[in-house]
Amino acid sequence: MSRQFQLIEAVHEYLPEFDEGVLDKAYRFAKNAHKGQKRASGESYFSHPWSVALIAAQLRLDFPSIVAALLHDTAEDTQTSLATIESLFGADVAQLVDGVTKLRKISFSPGEKHQAENARKLLLAIASDIRILFIKLCDRLHNMRTLHHLVNPEKRRRIAQETLDIFAVLASRIGLRAVQEELENLAFAELRPEEYQRLAQKIEMFGAQDPKIIGRIIRIFEELFREHSFFPDISGRHKTPYSIWSKMQRQHVRFEELTDVVAFRFVLPDVESCYRALGILHTNFRMLPTRFKDYMSLPKPNGYRSLHTAILGPFNKPIEIQIRTTEMEVVAESGKCAHWAYKNNWKGTESYKWLKGLLEIFNTNVTPKELFRRAKHEMFSKGIFCFTPLGDLISLPEGATAVDFAYAVHTNIGNSCIGARIDGHIAPLWAVLQNGANVEILTDPDQHPSALWDQFAITGKARACIQKFVCTQERAEFTRLGQRLLQQQLARLEEGFPQEETFVRLAKSFGYGAQRDFQEAIGRGRVPYTLVGNKVQRLGLPLRTSFEVVPLCLSDFIPGIAMHYADCCHPIAQNPIVGELIPGRGVMIHTIPCMKGKKSNTPFIETAWGKLSSQARTCLHLNLTISNQLGSFAIILGLLRDLEIRTTHIRVAHRDLDLIRVVAEIQVEREEQLAEALASLRTCPRVQAVDVQR
Ligand code: MN
Repeated sequence: MSRQFQLIEAVHEYLPEFDEGVLDKAYRFAKNAHKGQKRASGESYFSHPWSVALIAAQLRLDFPSIVAALLHDTAEDTQTSLATIESLFGADVAQLVDGVTKLRKISFSPGEKHQAENARKLLLAIASDIRILFIKLCDRLHNMRTLHHLVNPEKRRRIAQETLDIFAVLASRIGLRAVQEELENLAFAELRPEEYQRLAQKIEMFGAQDPKIIGRIIRIFEELFREHSFFPDISGRHKTPYSIWSKMQRQHVRFEELTDVVAFRFVLPDVESCYRALGILHTNFRMLPTRFKDYMSLPKPNGYRSLHTAILGPFNKPIEIQIRTTEMEVVAESGKCAHWAYKNNWKGTESYKWLKGLLEIFNTNVTPKELFRRAKHEMFSKGIFCFTPLGDLISLPEGATAVDFAYAVHTNIGNSCIGARIDGHIAPLWAVLQNGANVEILTDPDQHPSALWDQFAITGKARACIQKFVCTQERAEFTRLGQRLLQQQLARLEEGFPQEETFVRLAKSFGYGAQRDFQEAIGRGRVPYTLVGNKVQRLGLPLRTSFEVVPLCLSDFIPGIAMHYADCCHPIAQNPIVGELIPGRGVMIHTIPCMKGKKSNTPFIETAWGKLSSQARTCLHLNLTISNQLGSFAIILGLLRDLEIRTTHIRVAHRDLDLIRVVAEIQVEREEQLAEALASLRTCPRVQAVDVQR
C-alpha cells in the first residue's frame, strides 16, 4: 500500500467526509519541501512527517492537525515560509505549524541556563492551542521510535531524558496514556539499557512458562461471564518493562513479588454493567486488598475513568484488572483530543486549569532556578483531587493542604482564607487533604497571607502568591513605620515650616533619592531614626521649644511584620505601652513596667493602641495539655472560635500515648476575651492543663 493511501485510509476511518484534495496537496508539498534531505537512518526525510501524520490520525486528531503534522518541519528545515503555508492551507494550519516550530527551539537539558524561561515558553505555546502539544507528542513519539539511528550517545541520552521528564509527563496529564507508556518505555530502554533488557527477558520468561496463559485466562473469564449472560470484550497484555520497573522502584519490591505483570481489560457497554462485572469477579475470585480504585465515580484529573482491581485469578495468578465502558476506553486510549479539538471547549478542562496554574507560577518574581523547581514539582507530583461546595473538581499534588486548595480556587480566596470545612468538619489551613475530600474554604476580608503559611503550602501557585504578598506587604509595613518615626522627628519643627522640603533635604543628606526608600531604610533601622533627629537639629532649622509627639498608632500596623508584641510581657489592649526599635525587625511593643526594668540605650518610642478595630489583636501563646483522642484538636479550635478568638498557629511540643502538649498562637482583642478563653478551656474535659506563655 502506498504511503499516501495508508494515510488517507487512516483519516477516512474516523473522518469520512474529509477533503482528500487538501491532504493530497499537503502530502506533495511536504514531500517536495524535504526533497534531497535524509534522516539519520538513511531514509528520506519525508518518512518522518508522514509517520507523524499517521500517528496523529491514529490518535484521531482533527483535520487541520493532520495537515499541520505533515508540514510540521517544513517551516524550520526548508526554505518554506509560514506565509506560503498560510496562503496554501489557511491560517489555522499555519498557526499550528508555527507553534510546533517554536517548540522545537526550546531545550530542557539539565544545566540549561534558560530552563525556566523555556518551560514558560512551552506552556504558553500549549496554552494557546492544545493541538500544538498533540502534534508535538506525535513528533516526539516518532523521533523516539527511531532514536537508535542517532550515532551520538550523548544526544540520544539527552533526548531520552527530556522525553521522560517533560513529554511523557505532559502526555499523561492530557490523558494520552498509550503515548505516555510508549514514550516512557523507549526512553527507559535508552537510559537504562541493562535494566530494560533484564526486565524484558523476565517478562518474556513469565509468558514462556505458558505462552498461551493470557488466552487461557481470557477463555475462563468469558465462560464465567456467559453464565451471567454477560459478554464483555476482554483483552490481556503484559506490562511494559518501564511500568514494571517504576512500580518496583515505588514499592521497593522484586520482580517476583509483583502481582500485575499481566493485566486484563474488560470493556462493557455501560457503567452499570461495569459495576456488575466487578461484582462477578469479586465473588468468584479473591480480591487482593488495597488495589481497588474507583476512577468512575472519582475520575483522575486528566479525565481518565475506569475501575481498577486486582484478584487472585485463574491458576492462582495475581492479576490486575481494569473495567470500563466503550466510551471510556476511547478516551483512555486516544486521550481527550477528539473531544477537545472538535468541540473547541478544552479550556474548561482540568488539564487546562493545570496549565493555567503552572503559568501563574511564572508571573512572580523569584529566581529562575526556584521557578523551574516549582514548575517541575507541579508537573511531577502525584495528583489528588477534591471538590468545591459546588461540586467543581480541584486537582492538587499529593500532600496539598487547605491553603493550597484555597489558592487553587482563586488567588483572592487564598489571600483571605482563615480555615476550611473538610467533609463537614472544621479544619485549620495546614490540614493535609485526602483524595476526594469536599472542601469549603472559610474566608475573612480582614485576613492576610502570612509567612507561616509558606511552611505548609506545597503548590507552586500558593507559595508564589504567599511570598509575593508577604514581600510586598513587608515593604509597605516597614515603609509605614519609617514614615511614622520620621513624622515624630519632624514634629519638633516650627509650625508652618514646610515639612515636605525638609524631608527631601534629609533624604538627600543620607544618600536617598526616593522618599519611599528613605522611609523604608528608617523603618528597617538601616538609618537610625535618632540620627535623623540629630540631623534635623544640625541643619539649623527653626525648632520649637516644646512640642507634642504623635504616638505611633498600633492599629495602623499588622502585628508580626514591622510591629511585634514582646514575648516577655505580652501587652494586651489598654495596657500602657512603649516601643523599642530593633534594627531589621521593626518596633517591639512592651508594657511600660516591663521596659522600665530593662536597660536600653535607645530612647523609647511613644506608642498608642489607637482605635480598637479588628486589626488591634494581640498575639498570645497558650501552653495546652490535651488528651490524645480523636477530635481533641477540633474541639479546642471550635471552642476558641465560638469565643471569636483566632487561632493562628499550633505547634505540637510533645506527644505520648495519652497526652499532647501543644503551643497555640491565638489573637485576642480584649483582656476579657483571654479570661473567657482560659475559663472555658479549663472546664473542657479534653484539656488537662492550660496557661499563658510568658
Ligand atoms: Mn519533526
